[in-house]
Amino acid sequence: MGEVRHTYSRPTWVCTVDGEPWPCEARKAKFRTDYVGERTRLRMMLGAHFSDAMGDFADAGKTSDDIEALRKRFFDWVPTVPLVAMHVPPGELQRYVSGSS
Ligand SMILES: [Zn+2]
Repeated sequence: MGEVRHTYSRPTWVCTVDGEPWPCEARKAKFRTDYVGERTRLRMMLGAHFSDAMGDFADAGKTSDDIEALRKRFFDWVPTVPLVAMHVPPGELQRYVSGSS
């Protein structure tokens, strides 16, 4: 019993189950169902992981191109900005997303 957890291993950021670059397809599918209607929270969570991954990649001497590819891998599959964002000025949106004052 028990659900197989598709998690990452550091510092390589590949899935511990299938060896795909994380988040793998199985993990993304799980995120999609776990975060229905909560894309901002999903992006914030991914952002926290991306920050860790970026640090690991930098420590490993990866290039900025590698890190850009990493960013796309983390975020490009997420549905585009929530509807509310279209009506919020960019500065306001930044505060909304980051939660800072
Ligand atoms: Zn996986």
